[in-house]
Amino acid sequence: MIIGIPQGLLYSKYHTFATTFFEELGAEILVSPDTNKQILDEGVHFCVDEACLPMKIFHGLAAWLRDKCDAILIPRFISIAEREYICPMFCGLIEVVSNDIPQLPPLIDTPVLSLSDEKLFEWARSAGGCVTHNESKIAAALDTALQKQRGSDPGFYDTEYPLKIALVGHMYNIYDSFINMDIKKKLNQLGIGVVTAECVDRADIESEVAKLFKKPFWTFAQEFYGSAVTISKTQAADGIIYLSSFSCGIDSIVIELIQNEIGDFPFMVLKLDEHTGEAGADTRIEAFSDMLKRRCRIGRNLS
Ligand code: SF4
Repeated sequence: MIIGIPQGLLYSKYHTFATTFFEELGAEILVSPDTNKQILDEGVHFCVDEACLPMKIFHGLAAWLRDKCDAILIPRFISIAEREYICPMFCGLIEVVSNDIPQLPPLIDTPVLSLSDEKLFEWARSAGGCVTHNESKIAAALDTALQKQRGSDPGFYDTEYPLKIALVGHMYNIYDSFINMDIKKKLNQLGIGVVTAECVDRADIESEVAKLFKKPFWTFAQEFYGSAVTISKTQAADGIIYLSSFSCGIDSIVIELIQNEIGDFPFMVLKLDEHTGEAGADTRIEAFSDMLKRRCRIGRNLS
């Protein structure tokens, strides 16, 4: 059995887990290619106009896989922590994809409701049921997948540059170099290192979130807010670029919360959609990096 996995949305975080789990059960894995212009065009063709860019790209990736595999894994992440939720677009991902794209093979669409052991096993039993109903084999595959997943989080932590910028935002914007126009390479070429939220301790994120009047109930909103505020306070980077999806409701709130908290710490929002022009993005990135370099020079002269 060939299971197709689209390289979109939370793929960069959970691909080790998903790939290992289904391979351990005996399935063959077919991963979609990296995002490219053709995949984006396919996604734009199938997806509703109002959706964000990562959703459109996910459509393109699923469409690429549809005639090449026996089933496609469409992870329906609803909640990965108790009493916290993922964006509503994730909850409806299956319905949207299956209604928008014709002639899809069967979809592996078991919801991920929480990452507790019990709930994960429920997910594994249902999702793995398309390959085998042998529960001990499923339990063993889940165990191996969880072990391999540990320590496989993505993340950038450049140390060899005099200045650093933290990239904050959805992982699918940060780790998809097509979506973000290879911002890491651009910054490195400007002599600036890149760090990401993975360098921030979970305890620091939670501590900053706990100071809010009301804790956001979106897991990602908490992560982005807590990591950006911690980075500004600890000076773990010299500035922050927030990679935001155009029309993302979570981003619109989190950006306001961050800006209210970090004062004059250098902060730039780069909005991304299928119309974002590379020349415009380059100009803004260069202007932001020039400003950071100037601040650094002034700081050195004053000290
Ligand atoms: S959180 Fe924002 S960017 Fe992510 S899928 Fe939802 S709307 Fe799109």
